[in-house]
Amino acid sequence: MNLGISAVEFVSQAKEGVISVEEFVAKTLDRIKKVDEKIHAFITVDAQNALDKARTIDKKIKSKEKIGSCFGMPLSIKDNICTEGIKTTCASKMLENFVAPYDATVISRLKLEDAIIIGKANLDEFAMGSTTEFSYFGPTRNPWNLEYVPGGSSGGSGASVAAYECLASLGSDTGGSVRSPASFCSVVGLKPTYGLISRYGLVSYANSIEQVGPIAKTVEDVAFLLNIISGHDPHDNTTANNGYVDYVQDLKHGISGKKIGIISQMIGEGVDKEVASATNTAISKLQNLGAECIPISLDAIEHSVAAYYTIASAEASSNLARYDNLRYGFDFGIEGYEFKAFVSKARSNFGPEVTRRMLLGAFVLSAGYYGKYYLKAQKVRAMIKAQLDEAFKKVDYLISPTMPILPFKVGEKIDDPLKLYLTDINTITANLSGIPAISVPFSMSSSGLPIGIQLFANSFKEKELLQAAHVLQETSNLPEISL
Ligand code: GLN
Repeated sequence: MNLGISAVEFVSQAKEGVISVEEFVAKTLDRIKKVDEKIHAFITVDAQNALDKARTIDKKIKSKEKIGSCFGMPLSIKDNICTEGIKTTCASKMLENFVAPYDATVISRLKLEDAIIIGKANLDEFAMGSTTEFSYFGPTRNPWNLEYVPGGSSGGSGASVAAYECLASLGSDTGGSVRSPASFCSVVGLKPTYGLISRYGLVSYANSIEQVGPIAKTVEDVAFLLNIISGHDPHDNTTANNGYVDYVQDLKHGISGKKIGIISQMIGEGVDKEVASATNTAISKLQNLGAECIPISLDAIEHSVAAYYTIASAEASSNLARYDNLRYGFDFGIEGYEFKAFVSKARSNFGPEVTRRMLLGAFVLSAGYYGKYYLKAQKVRAMIKAQLDEAFKKVDYLISPTMPILPFKVGEKIDDPLKLYLTDINTITANLSGIPAISVPFSMSSSGLPIGIQLFANSFKEKELLQAAHVLQETSNLPEISL
């Protein structure tokens, strides 16, 4: 049995009875047992429930009962998305034993379509990080080379898909957390337009910029999942009500006659040579397939990292204020009743990166500094959006490398927050402006490390974005993972 098939292939094989869902899920669980000791993509594996559900679905298939479109495909879910009955830890000691009393909207929609949640995927604590090294439960490793980081913060999601430990995954993307692991693990990851997918049940980090996003082996799988999880949700009033769009239909439309802008600020200085050369190859392949590519300069990007870390930290400091360890949380065994001492003692259990963000966020919002930092960051955000609006008058898509550098070694940048923050330079633009962006695996470096290419489109143009991503995917020739 080939665990490396795409999610869509799995559906057609399960439908035709070529494979048994139970057997597939059991083999996937065996695979997790075999490789996850090394990779550590999972925080929780829900083996028994997954097998029970698979058995029920097989019965339904046999008796020709109505079955949801996922046919029991095993998915991993980033552990900051609430799942009823399975722990949602956010990779934090603060929520080590937290079980959400309800499913996030994205989860209930997947369950309605008979998807199987095989486990909860590792992440940087509360999704703050770019490498998955800031997990309280220990780092996830890159399945292509275990000495390297898988990207982050949805590193467990990216690695579990790449290592055939599930068919696809959901991550969350506040500043690149779906696309970074997609790029570093050689899988596809989409950050949808702000408001396309419900955030109800996604544990908030920076609500004004984040979205849940699918991670899968192919662009078609991403489109398939998007069909299920997107759309208006009465529980999240930031979701748009645009009506149903079928992202799978016309996926092979092509890009002939389309215009693509090459973002000058994302391919010049500071970009690894091999990454830059892969990007140029991708551009010429797209040109050969009928697209016209022109350079586009978005100079506000120069200030984007500073603006992003100001806004994201400000929102984080406010969102994470709720973890006072009274309403939910971990029993730290703190004695006594003095409120402030109790709360601050409990909160000292946050990891170093979360603590840094909360301090930074409280500072940039504080009286006397608000105008200097937070307000200025919001102005940069508006400038980026305005420049993108102008760009999309001239082009249909924008292109860049997803990450400016190759995956790096575990531990290599952990002591230098600034170096880590700078690796987000190409992804955060989509979050600050709300536009969609996708990372498509494109090639491998000479050292065997994945390189992903990023495509952007204007807001709510996911259908067109996926069409271009599909073209790009078809031009790539990637090796099978050996593990
Ligand atoms: N690396 C970015 C950060 O640490 C993005 C994280 C994310 O998208 N959740 O904030």
